[in-house]
Amino acid sequence: MSLLLGPMKQHLDGHKGLTDHNEILALKDAKRVYIPLINGQSTNVEVLVKEGDRVYVGTKVAQRNDSSIVPLFSSVSGKVVGQETFLHAILKPVAHLVIENDFKYETKAPFKPLDYTKASEAELIDFTMNAGIVGCGGAGFPTYVKYKFAKDVHTILINGVECEPYITADYRIMNEKGKEMVIGIKAMMKMAKAPKAIIAIKASHPELIATVKKEIEGHSDISVFPVPDVYPMGWERTVVFQVFKKRYDKLPGEVGVVVNNVTTAIALGTALETGMPITEKIVTVSGDGVKEPHNVMVPVGVRVSELVAKCGGYASEDVLLCAGGPMMGKTLTNDQFVITPYSNAITVLITRPIDKVACLRCGRCSDNCPSSLQPVRINQFEETKNYEMLKRLAVNDCIECGMCSYICPSKIDVTEGIRRAKRLVQTRAAAEVKK
Ligand code: SF4
Ligand code: SF4
Repeated sequence: MSLLLGPMKQHLDGHKGLTDHNEILALKDAKRVYIPLINGQSTNVEVLVKEGDRVYVGTKVAQRNDSSIVPLFSSVSGKVVGQETFLHAILKPVAHLVIENDFKYETKAPFKPLDYTKASEAELIDFTMNAGIVGCGGAGFPTYVKYKFAKDVHTILINGVECEPYITADYRIMNEKGKEMVIGIKAMMKMAKAPKAIIAIKASHPELIATVKKEIEGHSDISVFPVPDVYPMGWERTVVFQVFKKRYDKLPGEVGVVVNNVTTAIALGTALETGMPITEKIVTVSGDGVKEPHNVMVPVGVRVSELVAKCGGYASEDVLLCAGGPMMGKTLTNDQFVITPYSNAITVLITRPIDKVACLRCGRCSDNCPSSLQPVRINQFEETKNYEMLKRLAVNDCIECGMCSYICPSKIDVTEGIRRAKRLVQTRAAAEVKK
């Protein structure tokens, strides 16, 4: 079903000033890294090293081998010391390969750099697969798959909107890695046989727009499209609609567009230039619950507790920890989970008592829902577990953007009720299929 877009009129207080101009810290002193043996939701991962093996930064240590191929790489040099299973940011226990860091950061690029101007489309797609390039905006979807099946693409849309409050990782990396960004975008255009690319950036970032425009000088097939600073403008459907005034059913390919996060383009450009996969990530650690908010360059597999310590530690004993931003991120119960190739932020907020009152029937949650849902009605039918009505109210179209909770004057966590409703509908639907 095609989603209608809601009004998109909410400008959120982004709190971006906490980190957008701070120095980028480097975290290099983690004694161990824990490479999560997972990609997306798939744990069908073959481990390619054994206890005692010496590895380098860039050694391929494991590979997802099911519907997609996604290699996983060591982010430090040192010794494999085993496996441990603990909570992952997807909120499930996951096995992790444990590597003891020798702090030498000896690097062995696992593949040769590739000149995108000389490589064929097929060679670039293979390279993207073997380099383990995944969607860095939080999803971790294997990038090569988008290009393998791309057809009739007129534009590569690079999503540099970063609309979630607190997160500035994309903003910072775009400023730092313009050359790699252009190489990645050109390679994406070639893989999709797309004649042009558009980089979407918030109009409220004129300095960044100027920097990126300078970077793309001489590439008349790449342009910048300033978008309004409203939430959730960075949602794929919203940004596609904003730029092309077109809606799609399941995938942007239906309207001739492939969308990639800007950090993904930078990761691909870096791999093509250096032969190195994603072994480190820039992660925003921000919120009023951390003492010194910063962006941190951190090896994949470092525990979040170490990242928070690098930023001065917690500002309170009572904090809420989100993998991602406060609107769409996942709330974690402890800080032992690790940074993945697709982590972009850790948000730490001081928890405060909420004076929740009854629903005022004000309709603000419906008026501001980008998927044009009726969150308050969904919550009512969730309470009575009315499966048929929840289906009729299209609860699965919810993108869990958090806007209904944010906007609610009664401080009701409307989004949490919607999440429960989605789980109920999905579980019932799965049970019906089995019958
Ligand atoms: S979280 Fe709320 S506002 Fe966002 S899409 Fe879902 S129902 Fe709509
Ligand atoms: S925004 Fe809050 S108070 Fe208003 S209708 Fe929705 S749930 Fe009720």
